[in-house]
Amino acid sequence: MVLNLHQCCCCDSSLKKTGITHRLFDVLRKWEAHGVVFSQDTWLDYPNNTDLTLYQCQNCGFGVFLPMMIGTEAFYTDISRNEYYLPERWDFQVAIKALSSHKARSVLDVGCGSGAFLNLITQKLPDVICHGNDANPAIRNTLPPQVNLHLNLSDAPTNLDAVTLFQVVEHVADPIELLQESIAKVRPGGLVIVSVPDHSGPIRFFADSHTAIPPHHVSIWTPKSLELFLNKFGLSILDRKTEPLPDYLMPFYLPKILANKLGASGDLSREEMLSRRLSTPIVNLCSKLGIKSLPIHGHTYLIVSQKS
Ligand SMILES: [Zn+2]
Repeated sequence: MVLNLHQCCCCDSSLKKTGITHRLFDVLRKWEAHGVVFSQDTWLDYPNNTDLTLYQCQNCGFGVFLPMMIGTEAFYTDISRNEYYLPERWDFQVAIKALSSHKARSVLDVGCGSGAFLNLITQKLPDVICHGNDANPAIRNTLPPQVNLHLNLSDAPTNLDAVTLFQVVEHVADPIELLQESIAKVRPGGLVIVSVPDHSGPIRFFADSHTAIPPHHVSIWTPKSLELFLNKFGLSILDRKTEPLPDYLMPFYLPKILANKLGASGDLSREEMLSRRLSTPIVNLCSKLGIKSLPIHGHTYLIVSQKS
């Protein structure tokens, strides 16, 4: 099964063209305005200033930008120079608990990037045999020596206790193929843990951010779309988790969340007033009291599912 670009890969409804379009060169220039320097190789990977239009499912909220324009190796090499590392990443912590409570002894992290999650497993669950999958051979240098790196997912072993896909599906041209290949690596009864940026949450207020659109993110996901997607492959849902709003996102998200709640979205002067009088004092108070998160909708959604 491969992705049909005109049909929702989660619920099979048709994808409708939205009015949301981004010009590729404008997006690349936005990255550069945020400090990324693109090499000539990256610019050569994107020779045409294509219009990228969002097609969205009215039923589940899944969306895909067309024509499909994913991040190339040169693009990821360039943007990862400025990557910052969050050892306390919420989805990693939730997954560690799930792996521990299901007594998983072997894990494959698909799209493991610099290996932050695998590093964490080797510290928190040292008996677990770790496999990572990423196309970039340079990450071997950042992985603990006991982690087995597979540059191709097809080379990873089968019959594993768990696979994890942390914020990976939104980057790939074909999430169906990726999930099918990942599920094939898990034993019956094993876990498939998937997290995505949740576009039903406050990130929808930043939908035109360069980090949320192609070539970085080529699809958008909601809790409903992710669950339907996993169900489609016969996975049973064991747990659903929404990230609480973490402290480092409060200064950005809270003003938008409050403006939306109070019916001031889009009215920039009211938004500014609410930010000054409400959200800034709340953020400052949380910082003073050492509050690390608020129990309101944050960035990420995660599902723990099980192969039958
Ligand atoms: Zn759908």
